[in-house]
Amino acid sequence: MTTLPTERVRDGSEPAPPVTETVHWDLTYDIHLGATWGRFMAGLIDQKILATSCAVCGRVSVPPQAYCESCFEPTDDWIELPTEGVVEAYTVAQLGFTGGPKPPYAIAGIRLDGASTLLMHWLSGIDLSAAESTSDLVSRRVRAVWAPNRTGHILDIAHFVPVD
Ligand SMILES: [Zn+2]
Repeated sequence: MTTLPTERVRDGSEPAPPVTETVHWDLTYDIHLGATWGRFMAGLIDQKILATSCAVCGRVSVPPQAYCESCFEPTDDWIELPTEGVVEAYTVAQLGFTGGPKPPYAIAGIRLDGASTLLMHWLSGIDLSAAESTSDLVSRRVRAVWAPNRTGHILDIAHFVPVD
């Protein structure tokens, strides 16, 4: 039987530590990506980064959006973007999580050439243990590195690396 912390407080004793219970979740399930993201993921198999372009305001979204986030018009125009761009934001994670990459690792917001939005992805090829190597990541040109076996998943782009 579990004693709840509030029961101990009522009788004047010290509060019990929070009640915890180890729970394990291991879920495998399919999600429907929809037509827009489905087309984007299918393009990755062929090493193509596809974006939608708004015919009204010209906003180029990657990952693609079915509707423009600026003027709310349907975005039916598809374009292929180059695999290079610029880091506009990033974070370096010093702690890992179960099933994740070994720390330190970096996640970057990358503006691909011609895009109006940022694509979030892994950034690699940089010594993240050296502080000076991460201080100038913003504005750094990077390119996508394709996974050898692509299945229509965001990790068909294995990661981005500096161009120079
Ligand atoms: Zn628009």
